[in-house]
Amino acid sequence: MTYEGLRALQHRGEEAAGIAITDGGPLRVCKNVGLVSQTFDAKSVKALPGHAAIGHTRYSTTGAPTSDNAQPVFRPTAWGGLALAHNGNLTNAVELAARLDEVVELRGQRSTSDSDVIVALLALYSDRLGESAAEVLQQLQGAFSLVFMDQSTLYAARDPYGVRPLMLGKLSHGWVVASEAGPLDIIGAEVIREIDPGELVSINDRGFHCMRFAPEIRKGCLFEYVYFARPDTEFGGRSVYLTRLEIGRQLAREAPAPADIVVPTPESGTTAALGYAEQSGTPFVQGLVRSPFIGRTFIQPSQSARREAIRVKFNPIKVAVEGKRLVLVDDSIVRGNTQRELVRMLRRAGAKEIHIRICSPPVRWPCFYGIDFPSRAELIASQVTMEGIRNELGADSLAYLSLGALIEATTIDSDKLCHACFDGHYPIPLPRPEDVGKYGLERIRVEASNSTLT
Ligand code: 5GP
Ligand code: MG
Repeated sequence: MTYEGLRALQHRGEEAAGIAITDGGPLRVCKNVGLVSQTFDAKSVKALPGHAAIGHTRYSTTGAPTSDNAQPVFRPTAWGGLALAHNGNLTNAVELAARLDEVVELRGQRSTSDSDVIVALLALYSDRLGESAAEVLQQLQGAFSLVFMDQSTLYAARDPYGVRPLMLGKLSHGWVVASEAGPLDIIGAEVIREIDPGELVSINDRGFHCMRFAPEIRKGCLFEYVYFARPDTEFGGRSVYLTRLEIGRQLAREAPAPADIVVPTPESGTTAALGYAEQSGTPFVQGLVRSPFIGRTFIQPSQSARREAIRVKFNPIKVAVEGKRLVLVDDSIVRGNTQRELVRMLRRAGAKEIHIRICSPPVRWPCFYGIDFPSRAELIASQVTMEGIRNELGADSLAYLSLGALIEATTIDSDKLCHACFDGHYPIPLPRPEDVGKYGLERIRVEASNSTLT
């Protein structure tokens, strides 16, 4: 069931996958870099029996995408070990890691990701986790949707801002927690509710318990609605599918285009393109094929690798676009790679005009809460004017949805959402300047060990 759940959550991270499981005895952890289907097969899943488990698919925002940093992260304890899976990104990981260094027994157990710092902190209280977990959670700053377990109890917790989703489901014989509702449906669970921001849940043979470790200050990630989550889920009580349809309708109202067909950038632009087509009365046409066997191109290490990956991922359907004026809809522009390559291939396929319509405002600010938006220098919209971007992409016209319309499409109050990537207003304290950087935690650790040597 955990394996099937992970496959349904594959879109949230493609770098590594793993499962920790217990049959009542010490935890067993199986994890590696790669997709869920590359890490597990029928045989390895059969070899992991148990009645309680957690799993993870990784998309790195702190810590390198190496097998060492695959999750669940693990610490041996007197209680069969402690395993934890984390979605989000801490903003005080470096400070917490420095605090851990002061605990004598932990010297030598070097953390390489923010998630590893959390499991190390919780392991300090492994003999009384039920009473102490809340205390640890109160020390964490930033975004964290967590599941963790020892051999007797499974826990789930969510930061007070509820930045990332976390859903509770009910099985005929137990409970299940997952990032999204779609995967709960898929494994046959009934969707019950969100784990509340600031809530800690525990599940064991004494049943289901919930408590609050911090008051709720909701700041849900707006980009979950734009791109990250599957459309068959809800977040902050609002359907992602309905939000994307409305985004598309709004985009058609705000930025109409003289076009014959509406072409989605599959899959990230598909739902909004339906809304755009409906509102504008322009036919929705499948002008591009996206290979279902090629993963996300976004995380590739270099610009040339990202562009090459986009070239092999998409192909135009020539007979659908030839001689046509297109509205090309996508969820977002980050570096501009995707739209630049698509415009080039659609022109080669004979498209007459290409009007790019983007379902979010320009991404101008880096994210510190779990989306891998790079430094400002890499974000095309913080470097170039609108006309400059249009020109660089080679489009006939370019328009982005306004922030106001995007927020309105969610039906959620603006002050209950985080929109820092669009407007630079960060609702959660940021890391100290010296700690910033994707691999900042490791860099700091290296410096720390150097100074220990001298
Ligand atoms: P660009 O190609 O402009 O650099 O990035 C935008 C494209 O990447 C869009 O098609 C969008 O669907 C996708 N994208 C945007 N943000 C993310 C992200 O955080 N991770 C991944 N994997 N893809 C993203
Ligand atoms: Mg995309």
